[in-house]
Amino acid sequence: MPDFRLYNTMTRSAEAFAPQDGRTVRMYTCGPTVYNPAHLGNFRTFLFEDLLRRTLRLAGWNVLQVMNITDVDDKIILRADKAALTIKEVTEPVTATFQKDREFLRIEPAEVYPKATEHIGEMIALVQQLLDKGLAYQAEDGSVYFAIARFPSYGRLSRLDTRTIRPGARVIADDYNKEDVRDFALWKAAKPEDERTHAAWDSPWGRGRPGWHLECSAMAKRYLGDTLDIHGGGVDLIFPHHEDEIAQSEGASGVTFSRFWCHGEFLLTDGEKMAKRIGNVMNVADLRESGIGAAALRHFVFSVRYRQQLNLTEDALEASQRAVRRVGEFAARLSTATRGTAGLADAADTLERDAKAALFDDLNAPQAVAALFDFIRRANAELDQASGTDLSGLERARAAFATVNGVLDIVPDAPAIDSQLESWIATQLSNREQARARRDFTTADGIRRELEARGIAIEDTPLGTKWKKVR
Ligand code: AMP
Ligand code: ZN
Repeated sequence: MPDFRLYNTMTRSAEAFAPQDGRTVRMYTCGPTVYNPAHLGNFRTFLFEDLLRRTLRLAGWNVLQVMNITDVDDKIILRADKAALTIKEVTEPVTATFQKDREFLRIEPAEVYPKATEHIGEMIALVQQLLDKGLAYQAEDGSVYFAIARFPSYGRLSRLDTRTIRPGARVIADDYNKEDVRDFALWKAAKPEDERTHAAWDSPWGRGRPGWHLECSAMAKRYLGDTLDIHGGGVDLIFPHHEDEIAQSEGASGVTFSRFWCHGEFLLTDGEKMAKRIGNVMNVADLRESGIGAAALRHFVFSVRYRQQLNLTEDALEASQRAVRRVGEFAARLSTATRGTAGLADAADTLERDAKAALFDDLNAPQAVAALFDFIRRANAELDQASGTDLSGLERARAAFATVNGVLDIVPDAPAIDSQLESWIATQLSNREQARARRDFTTADGIRRELEARGIAIEDTPLGTKWKKVR
């Protein structure tokens, strides 16, 4: 059992972590609200969760991750109504974009992506349970609210003094129906725009739709049971969203909702939180247009610990691009090397030991990245002088590199080479070889320069001339 430490927002300290059943980590992570493509801020959080799940597996556990798709909410309804569409017509293409963007960024898929609109039955059952227990009440307008005053432990996660809690940005303040301004909606009575956009369902309390917090409590229970090992999200979800999830789930079940609460810090642009409403967002489409790949973005995100804010700048992205190019060159060299040294095995052991220690210490990704670059320096030096056929050292190096890169995943995609270019290169190389055979070095050098002008670097080796695309 590895010594695995994870910071728990509930206790405000790093604690030893292991899944409750010793085998499978049951993890719930709040997913995107699909009214607009997710931006890089959202993806910073999803990348932190990707790092978490890959590290948990490195520690030897299985992971069962559930990420909800919020496909009914105020902003979705507003957008649908403005465009005379149903919510489904708005959310389906955005959900498809989310999955494509996620795949582009090499974020491993969660095991389940439940949609809120497909779990209305579970949500109604949860509201009914809370009503039966006297923790919720129906107001005159038909909406159902959670009664915070009847749940004394409310505020434990955010450590807010409940007497001073004011409605947050996502709490609707215009309700005179509530017993207490702090109460939040479990079920919202349908308004005409909800009906127009097909965002209303029948319930024992009349037509309506679920509140945002309710979906996570209901779907977490449906797929993971009453007690999760880990619940994750961005820091902005601590209050009110996660606080309200706890109230609903623990109010209904009477047991701890999640053993660990893990929150990732914000991605900033120019020192301000990246957010749609501020208008400073960059999304994956913008990233791809700038020619920045998944490996570079992952390197950039993992260059700072997940609990620290991270500022997005062009310089930082370019530095990451340069860094991963080195990783890519090394990966290619390592995979084609035919000679090894005993020193490679030693470097590999050091890499694996240091990277694991860093990652198991509350996901210290920057330190794991540093260990990888140390390894690349050392291994390159070993390969430079490798003359022996110590293949076991080479195998060790390949395995350790694959293990650590299996978590970070920062080897860039090989630039696409079209077949026309490839056959042109082959012709050039054979012309060059013939020129060299007849000792016509002027022609041979000319061909080399022509190749370089097209971004192709060549290298003469005992096994023949090799080429690679460098631009
Ligand atoms: P939303 O689609 O708004 O529900 O957000 C999806 C996830 O992205 C949540 O876990 C948020 O906490 C997270 N998030 C939103 N903005 C940022 C940001 N600028 N940096 C990091 N995470 C963010
Ligand atoms: Zn949630």
